[in-house]
Amino acid sequence: MAEITEDELRTRVRAFLAGMPDDADMFAFRGAQFDAGLAVVHFPEGKGGLGLSPKMQGVVADELRSSPHSYHDLAVNPIGIGMGMPTVLTHGTDEMHERFLRPCFTGEEIWCQLFSEPGAGSDVAGLASKAELDGDEWIVNGQKVWTTLAHRSRWGMLVARTDPDQPKHKGLSYFVIDMHADGVETRPLYQITGEAEFNEVFMTDVRIPDSMRLGERGDGWRVAITTLMNERVALGGGGSPRGGGAIALLTDVWEKNQPPADSPEYTVWRDRVADLWVKAEVLRLTTARARVAAQVGVPGPEGSVGKLMSAELNKDIFEAVLDLHGADGMIFEAGYPLERAENAAMYTIDNKKSFLRSRANSIEGGTSEVMRNILGERVLGLPGDIRVDKDIPWTEVPRN
Ligand SMILES: Cc1cc2nc3c(=O)[nH]c(=O)nc-3n(C[C@H](O)[C@H](O)[C@H](O)COP(=O)(O)OP(=O)(O)OC[C@H]3O[C@@H](n4cnc5c(N)ncnc54)[C@H](O)[C@@H]3O)c2cc1C
Repeated sequence: MAEITEDELRTRVRAFLAGMPDDADMFAFRGAQFDAGLAVVHFPEGKGGLGLSPKMQGVVADELRSSPHSYHDLAVNPIGIGMGMPTVLTHGTDEMHERFLRPCFTGEEIWCQLFSEPGAGSDVAGLASKAELDGDEWIVNGQKVWTTLAHRSRWGMLVARTDPDQPKHKGLSYFVIDMHADGVETRPLYQITGEAEFNEVFMTDVRIPDSMRLGERGDGWRVAITTLMNERVALGGGGSPRGGGAIALLTDVWEKNQPPADSPEYTVWRDRVADLWVKAEVLRLTTARARVAAQVGVPGPEGSVGKLMSAELNKDIFEAVLDLHGADGMIFEAGYPLERAENAAMYTIDNKKSFLRSRANSIEGGTSEVMRNILGERVLGLPGDIRVDKDIPWTEVPRN
């Protein structure tokens, strides 16, 4: 489609909203949004988009926010929408686009990411789960860990080793795995919040048709990079309006719990809150700029800037929130029940839970140390990390 102006897109979204019945449920609403090309506007026409620049999604988001029907995009299916859809679009066949994109966007089919293993997190290319070809099917055996929302998922993005004699990055292949298939077992892992958002996933002789492979055999690392780069953009935040998101929770608590204006701590506190507000605004503008620069499919290393900033800032914001609660901040009024999470919320209106949840921000989706390595090497051009196992066969790499 020829590029349309912001005003034209706005008019199109308003017309779409005017045509939606008041009682449309989430699936119907999001399905119609997909069909109108307003799901991910930089996707091609007929595949949830209009072939526009990624920055135009902000126009859609603005309009949807003011509608009674607005269903927050990522929260519906955070891993599927943020990472699964761009990966399937970039590396999948037309049949896969047809099969997976729409129900992923509506939230009818939840997705999870099966990358990390007990022996491979930051160094995910060192993973050991294996897939062996048997006719036109692969037989998968291995264990994944920290798999967010595996218990709710219909599909998983799986990276497995298909050629152990190749160096670690070269012997991997990437599959879409049916999480309901025989041999897939999901067990809860509880976080410090008391919720089990993530899981251990055991795969025993799971059969995956070769038609569910994304990318070429042995080229799984390249496909995984698409997922990881999009994960960083998704986790980098910046989707909230000015003063919105986590910082809005801090300003709310500040308004209710701030010390008296003539007390000595008031000035120190005001300085701390203002500093965090400014940093949140810088993050919003930085991620907005990264979105404009982002290519369709595989965003560049700029996604790591937002991921690093948002992880560290979220932790600082929720530390301030808790400090503003004073001694009360140490008490969990609701007790500490162990629960199965329905979603992977980065923060909720429960300030204390959000504080605990924020500690994971600098681990999930790549740790802050790893983000600094990426930025040092790929953006600043500093010398690379030492990688002694990069060019030798995976089978010869010492491991415990
Ligand atoms: C809330 C949450 C949700 C998650 N969801 C998923 C999911 O859905 N799917 C999935 O596959 N994984 C998921 N993960 C796993 C996550 O990707 C890993 O935890 C992360 O990549 C770190 O790996 P690790 O835990 O094995 O730590 P390690 O890699 O063992 O790292 C341990 C420490 O060493 C540091 N370190 C490691 N390598 C280097 C280096 N080269 N230079 C400097 N420091 C280094 C790390 O920064 C860290 O501090 C999730 C994690 C969390 C916390």
